[in-house]
Amino acid sequence: MLMQTDPRPADPKSADPVARRRTFAIISHPDAGKTTLTEKLLLFGGAIQLAGEVKAKRNRVSTRSDWMGIEKERGISVVTSVMTFEYGDCVFNLLDTPGHEDFSEDTYRTLTAVDSAVMVIDAAKGIEARTRKLFEVCRLRDIPIVTFVNKLDREARDPFETLDEIEKTLALDVAPITWPIGLGRNFAGTYELGGNRVRRLDAADDAGTIPVSGFADPLFDELLTENGAADAWREEVELAEGGLKSFDLAAFREGHLTPVFFGSALRNFGVRDLIDGLARFAPPPRGQEADKRAVQPSEPKMTGFVFKIQANMDPNHRDRIAFMRVCSGMLRRGMKAKLVRTGKPMSLSAPQFFFAQDRAIADEAYAGDVVGIPNHGTLRIGDTLTEGEEIVFRGVPSFAPEIMRRIKLTDAMKAKKLKEALQQMGEEGVVQVFIPQDGSPAIVGVVGALQLDVLKERLQAEYGLPIDYETTRFSVCRWIEAESEAEIDKFVNAHGSAMASDLDGAPVFMATTAFSLRYEEERWEKIRFTDVKDYQ
Ligand code: GDP
Repeated sequence: MLMQTDPRPADPKSADPVARRRTFAIISHPDAGKTTLTEKLLLFGGAIQLAGEVKAKRNRVSTRSDWMGIEKERGISVVTSVMTFEYGDCVFNLLDTPGHEDFSEDTYRTLTAVDSAVMVIDAAKGIEARTRKLFEVCRLRDIPIVTFVNKLDREARDPFETLDEIEKTLALDVAPITWPIGLGRNFAGTYELGGNRVRRLDAADDAGTIPVSGFADPLFDELLTENGAADAWREEVELAEGGLKSFDLAAFREGHLTPVFFGSALRNFGVRDLIDGLARFAPPPRGQEADKRAVQPSEPKMTGFVFKIQANMDPNHRDRIAFMRVCSGMLRRGMKAKLVRTGKPMSLSAPQFFFAQDRAIADEAYAGDVVGIPNHGTLRIGDTLTEGEEIVFRGVPSFAPEIMRRIKLTDAMKAKKLKEALQQMGEEGVVQVFIPQDGSPAIVGVVGALQLDVLKERLQAEYGLPIDYETTRFSVCRWIEAESEAEIDKFVNAHGSAMASDLDGAPVFMATTAFSLRYEEERWEKIRFTDVKDYQ
């Protein structure tokens, strides 16, 4: 197998299971190569035998489950999932995020559960809109970023131009670890800056690197045969080695600097350097903020939070899998945990790890691991599980919707069933559900329109509920808060038909236009209008 030929020590303390964990996501603009890179990373980890399995798996799943037909039709990935694999000394948990921006809420929640991210950039296109947006989310959370400049085998921009763009548009220092030898059809491999090593594109993957005597080495004349190309390349490398920042672990971990790797996911090139880089540089699981204190991964007692619920992973069972990031301690199969929201105990009888093609029962999981917990609606997004402590992890966000629709049920007899179904869909984070105070039908809110399609299909497929959407006069909404209940009551009474409750019973003000929202915000000084809410 391709596994473990040159495992560099992940961390001096690698006997410690937490220090060996790397939990990360890949952020990119659609088409930059996230899926291809994911396949190749899994291939290195021995998690799959053949590249192409990730897509193959997607197709298989989507033919099996109705609602995911949407994904198939439009060729997009709706579902976030996790893939665990081992490479070298490390256990990697790769959290997949939906590519389409309509599911950005899902992506933001997933990013609450990672310790680092790989930013994939198309070498010809540079930083694109969605990369930039996701980068901003990572920055807010101080998530260190490793950059992979992909598609070097195709027409590509000059590497300096790409680095310059990262530096300028993202205000992030760059430290290239490798440097491409030629671009596009002349792409011949990469040179490890300052490392005197070359990885050749045409070498069999396991051949590893070739030692060279710096950039003056005659090998580069062999690799860059076009007239003057080798000399021009040497000048470029001299400039890169002399003029660019060298890698600084502290600056990277603080989110000020990104190490940059060049490669081609499609050609399976540069991927090993990237994964070695993650093992060496990417941080092990970090502490997590809870309401009462910060929780450190080294603490002995198990804690964790749910950031994602996925339904219908197995169409034979109407199961829901809650994805939980373990934040501290050890999760043992069969243990009893406390679900802090309800105060009730919950038996973790079948926690699961997910691999590219399979899932397996997780006998033990450590901080940084993401386990799937099958349940029938007990767990919600944002839930905290502990061994008894009353703490709640913060920061799994819910965003004020950008599109609001009223649900129209074609069969009025099914109102009760619809209520139950909406409760579930809301808890899974498919849509947000608002129950108007005037007793009128429920309103759903989404950030992206495709979420509405998913809801409609799932209500039909899973609950036999045909629905339509009607426009409402409301276009924006905000959660409202105040120092005292009396202030809230005053506001609520003054805005009867524009008030609703979310699934937690929190008051929500719905406005017809952004202008009218602003008007109310100015008029009601004691009320705070918020567009992001922590779950719970
Ligand atoms: P995603 O939308 O970011 O998941 O991108 P994909 O991985 O699906 O890749 C988009 C397209 O780019 C596909 O046609 C890939 O085959 C192609 N692609 C990905 N990586 C490379 C690469 O390194 N070189 C070339 N030439 N094509 C690539």
